[in-house]
Amino acid sequence: MRTLKDNVLCSGVGIHSGEPVNMIIRPFDKPGIFFRRVDLDDKNLIPATYDNVSDTKMRNTTIGNLKGAHVKTIEHLMAALFVAGVDSALVDVDGAEVPIMNGSASLFYRRIMEAGITKGAGHKKIVVKKTVVATAREMLRALPFLERLKGFILGLFYRRRGLDGYVKLSPTKDKALNIKATLVYTEPIIGKQSFVYSFDNTKWSAENFIRNIASARTFGKYAEWGYLKAHGMARGADEKNVIVLDYGGEKTLNRIYWPDEFVRHKIIDAIGDMFTSGGFIVADLESYKGSHALNNAVLKKLFSNPDNYDIIDA
Ligand SMILES: [Zn+2]
Repeated sequence: MRTLKDNVLCSGVGIHSGEPVNMIIRPFDKPGIFFRRVDLDDKNLIPATYDNVSDTKMRNTTIGNLKGAHVKTIEHLMAALFVAGVDSALVDVDGAEVPIMNGSASLFYRRIMEAGITKGAGHKKIVVKKTVVATAREMLRALPFLERLKGFILGLFYRRRGLDGYVKLSPTKDKALNIKATLVYTEPIIGKQSFVYSFDNTKWSAENFIRNIASARTFGKYAEWGYLKAHGMARGADEKNVIVLDYGGEKTLNRIYWPDEFVRHKIIDAIGDMFTSGGFIVADLESYKGSHALNNAVLKKLFSNPDNYDIIDA
């Protein structure tokens, strides 16, 4: 088990709520990443595991417990903890959302490394033995009729992005999580982009992460901002924490770090979501038009049958 040597403080706003939030990542004495809502009196501890993911509709990953406590947008912090090798921490937040900071995983990662990490056995390995796939088509079919109808009418997701998206986990010869992410958007500045990243729990793969992936931010369209805000989303978004696209999606309104920053961010999301497995997934992961919902669905499929995986403690 490896935890932090010292507390890590992060203050900012929630990207969706826009509300100020203070977060303290604390050393912990048992394995797992736990979130604690310190603004609630009790029943406020939430293990950050795939079976506690309560919502993925708001373009983020929200975890919650049966008592109704929840924390939104955990994925970038989860990715930073995972790559840093931390498998035990208690994350106190005084609101319903992790602060968005600079929109990526880089600040979290840097502060975790500054605090230092205890020595010990690292992540337990979850070795994928059989291929599992989650598809957008089957997720749509599983929705209640009214939800499906709403999806079509709003055209928010299904119409524009098609139903051919999937996330697939398959056995690998390497001792690594090999992620290939592909995005396909009609917005010309994004178009079709792919990016590959391998995490093998070495210093090299952590350095690769910080150099090529950790700073990538998500994106939004300026034209949609009003709609999102009216529906309780993106109220904390600004030109520093989100890539802002113009109306036609032909250019960005702020500076981007790489032309394919969009798909690099998808790698952060995939790493963070895979860490809700509670360990280091050893597999080839293919994410084609992936989403937090598909990442969660593929983990549920993986763990639905013990023949699909082996767990190896470090
Ligand atoms: Zn993200």
